[in-house]
Amino acid sequence: MFEELTLTCEAEGCGRDLDPEPALVFRDVGGERRAYECVCGAITVTVAKT
Ligand SMILES: [Zn+2]
Repeated sequence: MFEELTLTCEAEGCGRDLDPEPALVFRDVGGERRAYECVCGAITVTVAKT
């Protein structure tokens, strides 16, 4: 398990809290990547090593 963090949009001047449900989840050799879409249109991607 890893910590639940509050994600915020990385877009400059935005900083909104992102929906905790990722828009897209995919895995590759680096781990699990989660893409969150903000209402401003920016995508924030996190990588969780599994
Ligand atoms: Zn945003």
